[in-house]
Amino acid sequence: MPAVTTEASRPRRDQARASADVVVIGAGFAGLIAARELGHAGLDVLVLEARDRVGGRTWTDRRLGHDLELGGTWVHWVQPHTWAEMTRYGRDITRSPAVEEAYWLGAGDARRTGTLDEFMALIAAGQQAIVDDVRAAIPRGIDPTAGEIGKLDAFSIQDRFDALGLDDEARSANEAVWIGHVNARLDQVGLSSALRWTAAAGGHWQLMHEASATYRVVGGMSGFTAAIAADVAGELRLSAAVTRVAQAADGAVVTCADGTEVRARRVISTLPVNAIAGIAWEPGLPGAWLRANAETVAAQGVKVWVKARGQVPRFFAYGSQRHPISVLKTEFTDDDATVLVGFGPDHTQLDVTNVADVQAAVDALRPGLEVTGVAAHDWMKDPLSRTTWMTHRPGQLTRDLAELQRPAGVVHFASSDNANLWGGFVDGAIESGLREARRVTAELTKLQVREHRREPPVGHRAAVRREPPGDPARPARDEELDRHPRVVPDAVVRPDRAQVDADPARAVRALVAGRRAARLLGPELAGAPGAA
Ligand SMILES: Cc1cc2nc3c(=O)[nH]c(=O)nc-3n(C[C@H](O)[C@H](O)[C@H](O)COP(=O)(O)OP(=O)(O)OC[C@H]3O[C@@H](n4cnc5c(N)ncnc54)[C@H](O)[C@@H]3O)c2cc1C
Repeated sequence: MPAVTTEASRPRRDQARASADVVVIGAGFAGLIAARELGHAGLDVLVLEARDRVGGRTWTDRRLGHDLELGGTWVHWVQPHTWAEMTRYGRDITRSPAVEEAYWLGAGDARRTGTLDEFMALIAAGQQAIVDDVRAAIPRGIDPTAGEIGKLDAFSIQDRFDALGLDDEARSANEAVWIGHVNARLDQVGLSSALRWTAAAGGHWQLMHEASATYRVVGGMSGFTAAIAADVAGELRLSAAVTRVAQAADGAVVTCADGTEVRARRVISTLPVNAIAGIAWEPGLPGAWLRANAETVAAQGVKVWVKARGQVPRFFAYGSQRHPISVLKTEFTDDDATVLVGFGPDHTQLDVTNVADVQAAVDALRPGLEVTGVAAHDWMKDPLSRTTWMTHRPGQLTRDLAELQRPAGVVHFASSDNANLWGGFVDGAIESGLREARRVTAELTKLQVREHRREPPVGHRAAVRREPPGDPARPARDEELDRHPRVVPDAVVRPDRAQVDADPARAVRALVAGRRAARLLGPELAGAPGAA
């Protein structure tokens, strides 16, 4: 288990550790997964997290009488990286409540009310039409830039709707559904986001909808990330904002806001595209990161929890992209209140902390509710995220994705923002953390082999020579890793599951001085099969 240090418990600056094999910046899903993998591979890993908690853009907090997900919420078994972790940490799911009533806006913004089935019948043809060419565009969800997507990537979702010729009634309802998915106005978002997520769901838009907003994690996202954090064999430092990363020939010096410096052989940044300029990078960031950061990703919306007086039948309500809240849905029904979750496409249109503003936004979608409380975190204003979940602007996906995944010197980049399959989702964060941990482990394994002046086996040399130009991390390093078994740290002590479930944040803070992972290689490698 990790040694978790917070501002209060941390050794003074002059006593803090000065080096690590790998510094991971950020303890969201990408960072925690990368750190866990590196630690289990026997590397000395240090996680530096600016917040006083783990989880990043996922955060379960007790508000309005419930454990509310202020960030990422829904998971699904068609998200393979997420589901593997759900299985590993014994997490269960619960279904968000099925609705009894539907409210939406028809032609000319006329209010409509009906059942879920009536609404689904209204949108079915349009939802299919918008992603009809998904199989040609992205034949394999795991490779979202292959296929004919290049020809379509310049178009926004709005362009596609404009070309479809749906009647006004169907168009209004169909557009509303996609505003909710992409958390932005539709002219800001590439059609690629609709296509890639549908491709990730095997080409089925219904399954994409279900995967995005149906099943919550029992014990909350914070319980989930606490369980992963507890499995990190290394140091996890909270309230440790990184301000500078300076690369040198043999590694990098990472500087924190309090002046602490740590030398590392490799650095994994997990900062979101929109927040990456919060660190001074020397040398500067690769072009794709600079460009994407300057443009920003498309999503710029809000998520807000709303408490309304009394019980009402469970409902969802859709508005339009002109509405501060474009989708609103029942999540909890109490004896004397109903708790709703809402999303809006433009954070500048809604003060999520202001009950009166939220009341007006709710009235526009579902009249007759009295708002008594609100809860939210404005991720757009948060300097550590500056975004909610990544959706690409037109052209960004095919232009930038490969370059965003490429290491720059000793710095690697893991983020849901640069994932292949469910980019923008928790699944993408996990995928990216696994990817970069694998690459870094392979790189350091190779270095260590050289340091020990051991000739790699003949087959290994052949593998290195086969390394394709342009993608230095694959696949030869993977083969190399297979040939050099890792030293797994002995007996990683896990905290009590009940503690983690009861109070995840406290459990993370309470973890103390776990056993440092066994160091990689050294004498162990000498005896390892394949190393001679
Ligand atoms: C409102 C909202 C709703 C969402 N809904 C869903 C959903 O239902 N399902 C789903 O799968 N996904 C959802 N997502 C998306 C999902 O939460 C994210 O894609 C995922 O959590 C991102 O993980 P990450 O590790 O890539 O990035 P992050 O979680 O952003 O982690 C990056 C970490 O880096 C830290 N950091 C930043 N700067 C520094 C610095 N200078 N020094 C040190 N640390 C730093 C941050 O504090 C953060 O902890 C939602 C997101 C939001 C915000």
